[in-house]
Amino acid sequence: SLTAGIVGLPNVGKSTLFNAITKAGVEAANYPFATIDPNVGVVEVPDERLNKLTELVKPKKTVPTTFEFTDIAGIVKGASKGEGLGNKFLANIRQVDAICHVVRCFEDENITHVSGEVSPLDDIEVINLELILADLESVDKRHTRVSKIARTKDKEALQELAVLEKMKAALEAGKSARTVEVTPEEAPLVKSLFLLTTKPVLYVANISEEDVMAGEDNEMVKQVREFATTEGAEVVTVSARIEEEVADLEEEEKTEFLQELGIEQSGLDQLIQKAYTLLGLGTYFTAGEKEVRAWTFKLGMKAPQAAGVIHSDFERGFIRAETVSYDDLVAYGNMAAAKEAGKVRQEGKDYVVADGDVMLFRFNV
Ligand code: GDP
Repeated sequence: SLTAGIVGLPNVGKSTLFNAITKAGVEAANYPFATIDPNVGVVEVPDERLNKLTELVKPKKTVPTTFEFTDIAGIVKGASKGEGLGNKFLANIRQVDAICHVVRCFEDENITHVSGEVSPLDDIEVINLELILADLESVDKRHTRVSKIARTKDKEALQELAVLEKMKAALEAGKSARTVEVTPEEAPLVKSLFLLTTKPVLYVANISEEDVMAGEDNEMVKQVREFATTEGAEVVTVSARIEEEVADLEEEEKTEFLQELGIEQSGLDQLIQKAYTLLGLGTYFTAGEKEVRAWTFKLGMKAPQAAGVIHSDFERGFIRAETVSYDDLVAYGNMAAAKEAGKVRQEGKDYVVADGDVMLFRFNV
């Protein structure tokens, strides 16, 4: 399954956030197939729609879908020079599908900052620079090989060379590869380079309890947002401390605690939802009397593939999917009424599943 890696400089609140994730996470006992890797935290994806469907269908059981975060340890500075732990850091980033980059946006004299001063933009630059240097190395290597082929006027090689040169120029200017505009024809070439700075990124601004309560961006957060815009990246604010405190509370207690602080939705929940969206993931539902359940699929998947998320037999023997949108089901109150109104569609193997579809798969065994 897809995973988002948590990175950041020392003392920014990474471990606090990751603790919150593992504390809030699903119990290993209830999740026998989960990796028992201590660097992986599996969380439930909060989804109001699942609660609503549970109210409507009144099943015996409700099962949310889950999402994985990976804690990426290792030394950041000098990582691209490829020594020991730094190398491991880059190798770990290579394995994740998106990056959650934690930046310190809180002041606290008691907690030293690695570079002596709290400056989120400098922090972002330190990490990004290592990733950019590592990418530059990959691009340079490929460039050397492809230029040899291009000398023979090979059309494909020339096309690739043009892409590599665009990438090289951006990276040399200290910019991430994701800032480079590529055409649909160039996209597969870029993908085949497996660059680190093309991975989608979400900046996680760790703010103080006071700033969470104030409900307004502080100067540092504003800077991060501005920077993120230039990269086409997203920002989410959290107080890692608060999240760690509320992580093992029951849902009701948690809501109450957050309300007292004047917080509508926990920062961790927002982080989960944003990371999920960032990865291009969507949710469809199955809603039977026994169980109402949310399932994760990759947006763009067709019905048989999406069915395969539940079981490979569903994909192999796929016949059709009885499908109703979440909104229609809620509007008509139940399946029978939605059917009567003609809102339940019989979708075949070419149907592209939409986020929020409520589906019943018909298949041959
Ligand atoms: P890491 O090195 O990035 O993993 O950082 P830690 O999670 O260990 O946090 C470093 C220190 O900052 C710890 O003492 C945390 O308790 C503290 N810390 C984390 N988040 C906050 C916060 O929102 N406010 C304050 N004041 N301290 C925090």
